[in-house]
Amino acid sequence: MVLGELGQRITASFRRLNQAPIIDDDLLDEVLKEIAAALLHADVNVRYVSELRSNVKKRVLLESDASGVNKRKLIQKAVVEELVRLVSTDRKPYKLEKGKCNIIMFVGLQGSGKTTTCTKYAHHYNRKGWKTALVCADTFRAGAFDQLKQNASKVRIPFYGDYNETDPVKIAEEGVELFKKEKYDLIIVDTSGRHKQEAALFDEMQQVAEVVAPNDIIFIMDSHIGQACFDQAKAFREVVDIGSVIITKLDGHAKGGGALSAVSATNSPIIFLGTGEHFDEFQPFDAQSFVSRLLG
Ligand code: GDP
Repeated sequence: MVLGELGQRITASFRRLNQAPIIDDDLLDEVLKEIAAALLHADVNVRYVSELRSNVKKRVLLESDASGVNKRKLIQKAVVEELVRLVSTDRKPYKLEKGKCNIIMFVGLQGSGKTTTCTKYAHHYNRKGWKTALVCADTFRAGAFDQLKQNASKVRIPFYGDYNETDPVKIAEEGVELFKKEKYDLIIVDTSGRHKQEAALFDEMQQVAEVVAPNDIIFIMDSHIGQACFDQAKAFREVVDIGSVIITKLDGHAKGGGALSAVSATNSPIIFLGTGEHFDEFQPFDAQSFVSRLLG
């Protein structure tokens, strides 16, 4: 994961802190400046970087009577906690309930990895024994149904779609009804994307959400778009009730930090990370262990 560079830079700053004979305000400022530069370089939203910096500083000043060793620990602990805060939210993700029909709708721009991620998500739960199905309500992108069909067949998951129907709302409604009757535990609805946020996409998303009444709406965010992640996530959040976020393509050359800001933009937790094109390149997300792994 390219975010590794961010982790390396932060751990290098921690090392510097550990090796310094005296930790005074100047050194603290320098170290925080280095960490902020590393976060900005990784595309983390500017506002959160400056918040992180001032929160750490405030905490250290407040507890400044701590001795040398404690001060080192205090600074590192505060940085780690601020990083965890950056990628987490108080809002809990929707918890799927087995034996109940869970309807999950996926939204995101074209190319974000939505169709691939629907399949990964379906595969993840199917392997755990959930009765899972996919509905292709993407009538905008030519070949979307074929792609979902192929993906679904590869992981042996039932799917619903219609080559002749142009109304995504109708397909979504019919597909969900069908699998509901057949008592599926998990019905995943893949929706259309567009190249950019636009009214037609948002109208369609709202209409699909109305007819399928999803238990959760998952926003798919491509980590490659860097700083633009924040605005994109916010725009989607203003239209539909996003409950969770999945960040894709964290295996590529993306710096990834921008996508981490999607938590604040949507006030929704990240639930999985996509780390490759294969259907098992998919990891559940936990803020604490993500930060621990980041810092090695
Ligand atoms: P959609 O238009 O949003 O449905 O996007 P697709 O699912 O078709 O994905 C667009 C491209 O991104 C495809 O070539 C996928 O194989 C690729 N892709 C999706 N997720 C990942 C990921 O986590 N890592 C990598 N490297 N590629 C991905």
